[in-house]
Amino acid sequence: MNKQLILALSKGRILDETLPLLADAGLVPAEELGKSRKLLFDTNLPDVKLVIIRATDVPTYVQLGAADLGVAGKDVLLEHGAEGLYEPLDLEIAKCRLMTAGVKGAEPAHARRRVATKFVDVARRYYAEQGIQAEVIKLYGAMELAPLMNLADEIVDIVDTGNTLRANGMEPRELIADISTRLVVNKAAMTMKHETLKPLIGRLREAVAKRHAPGNASA
Ligand code: AMP
Repeated sequence: MNKQLILALSKGRILDETLPLLADAGLVPAEELGKSRKLLFDTNLPDVKLVIIRATDVPTYVQLGAADLGVAGKDVLLEHGAEGLYEPLDLEIAKCRLMTAGVKGAEPAHARRRVATKFVDVARRYYAEQGIQAEVIKLYGAMELAPLMNLADEIVDIVDTGNTLRANGMEPRELIADISTRLVVNKAAMTMKHETLKPLIGRLREAVAKRHAPGNASA
């Protein structure tokens, strides 16, 4: 039986917070990440390899079984959909909020609100649930610019401190979802590779619990 596990990690901000958690769970890359253009890495565990990919690609890799498990933000998972994925563990890192936001003090002007976002499915669902007619415009970055440039009335974006919004004369409005980083597992792998997956998930769960135990400064 193939026991090799491929773990897909999201590049960027989440990666910096994921690596210490993996280390607490006894998993470390065999070489320094980011020193080369390599994307596939061995680890200290002979059965586990890492791939470092774009956050938005992690659910696809895991869903289609190219990776057995992955680490991805709930924002990305909400947008991608959960088909073929288990989400057994909240890693409780990279916490932020998915929110609507608009120009400070401005009333939403249009009866049919124009909303710029990279989270188009999440936004469509949210405005439909609110009974608000919305034209959702897909952007790939710098969402805060869209209302200032009169491209949109509102944006749906990730807010952490709110500094990015404030720096651009905008304000957060409605909370769509609280976001944190999750462990996702391919459904077939969960059965087929249970023996290797279970202890790894168990150690990660313990590492998360330990951080949030009473008396721990980071809890
Ligand atoms: P802030 O200015 O602290 O509100 O941060 C907002 C920007 O940082 C957003 O536009 C996001 O692109 C990014 N950001 C903040 N937190 C996260 C996170 N946990 N995951 C991904 N992106 C984030």
